[in-house]
Amino acid sequence: MDFRLTSEQTQFRDSVLKFSQKELSEGALKRAHDPGYPWDVAKKMAKQGLLGITIAEADGGQGGTLMDAVLAIETVASVCPRSADVIQAGNFGPIRVLAEYGAAHHKPHLKKLLSGEAVISVGMTEPEAGSAVTDLTTKATRDGKGWRVTGSKIFTTHSAYADLILTYVRFGPGVGGIGSVLIEAKDVRRGRKSHFMSGEEWAELHFDNVFVPEEMVLLGEGGFKKQIAGFNVERIGNAARSLALGRYAFEQARAWALERKQFGRALAEFQGLQWKFADMKLKLEAAQLLLYKAAASADRGLPSPEDTALAKLACNQAGFDAANESLQVMGATGYSQETLVEYCLRRCRGWMIAGGSVEILKNRIAEGVFGRSFSQRGDN
Ligand SMILES: Cc1cc2nc3c(=O)[nH]c(=O)nc-3n(C[C@H](O)[C@H](O)[C@H](O)COP(=O)(O)OP(=O)(O)OC[C@H]3O[C@@H](n4cnc5c(N)ncnc54)[C@H](O)[C@@H]3O)c2cc1C
Repeated sequence: MDFRLTSEQTQFRDSVLKFSQKELSEGALKRAHDPGYPWDVAKKMAKQGLLGITIAEADGGQGGTLMDAVLAIETVASVCPRSADVIQAGNFGPIRVLAEYGAAHHKPHLKKLLSGEAVISVGMTEPEAGSAVTDLTTKATRDGKGWRVTGSKIFTTHSAYADLILTYVRFGPGVGGIGSVLIEAKDVRRGRKSHFMSGEEWAELHFDNVFVPEEMVLLGEGGFKKQIAGFNVERIGNAARSLALGRYAFEQARAWALERKQFGRALAEFQGLQWKFADMKLKLEAAQLLLYKAAASADRGLPSPEDTALAKLACNQAGFDAANESLQVMGATGYSQETLVEYCLRRCRGWMIAGGSVEILKNRIAEGVFGRSFSQRGDN
């Protein structure tokens, strides 16, 4: 067993760092507070080969590994936390599901996404189906050579401006009746707009009897299991950003503790604060190992459900704790929008809910512990 990165991985990480320092360092604070999508960053990343890292070269990607994509998201976040979202959108999210399961006629959509000119959302959550995602009611009904889709989605990341929505729909009853279709933004009615605590915009998405041709079905009836296997990649991106933003805050607080003096001494001299750093370091390093284990052992780029749940839980918790304690170490400066520490805290808080909340992850881990599933519906 070797815990060191290979020389190729180190080289790749160094090249991403160089790119990030040159292209993304300036304006990192402003970017975090801009509500829209950083399209300029997306185009630069497309040119640099940072979108589609794990997607096959034949499909316009780089043919790399999930571990490469994790290194890229962490490295970008260490320079510009907000820009890490572009790595997420271009590698870990629904784009990955589209690349994995899409047919040849879906590839033109992929090409546009990889160019950094378009972005895709995943619409799973509905007003009455959050953690209980299989309760979704958005319905696809047969209509000639396609389907009519009716329903609504909420809390969808990028929904205010996405070009394409990978929409979970119900073709029939039960979990087996769930699949997914691709719906273009022009066919979606955007309703009420809102913002997460992170500042990210989202809009209600309404499908009012939208006609979806057969070729826009990504996974038909019985596709739910595959969708979730692809979604585990999204969860790894969520975990990696949690960890990276916690680490970003930690580094800011470390530098602050060396500079800032109170009672005639640097903050770093106070044992009460030193122990905070020791605790943060332990949590960040432990979570990092679980993240790398999940990514490095991913079978054909798809991580196992249990490794993913452990990594996401550890990274969500470590990232949030590190950002929270770092803010405390920095006092009112950490709580102000002059640094990105408060931003890191707000983002890390959201990732404890998004993509499978920490409670739902614990349910998944407990199933592994006891070697059986536990129905959450009280019908065990
Ligand atoms: C920043 C952010 C981005 C998001 N992006 C997207 C997106 O792109 N696409 C999309 O479809 N959705 C997205 N979501 C929605 C997200 O998937 C849901 O918020 C999540 O699944 C939880 O659903 P809910 O908010 O309805 O909470 P609920 O399901 O109502 O849960 C409320 C609380 O109860 C807990 N809980 C529920 N069931 C159980 C149980 N069985 N055991 C223990 N605890 C339980 C939950 O963990 C939570 O703490 C996003 C959310 C956030 C915060």
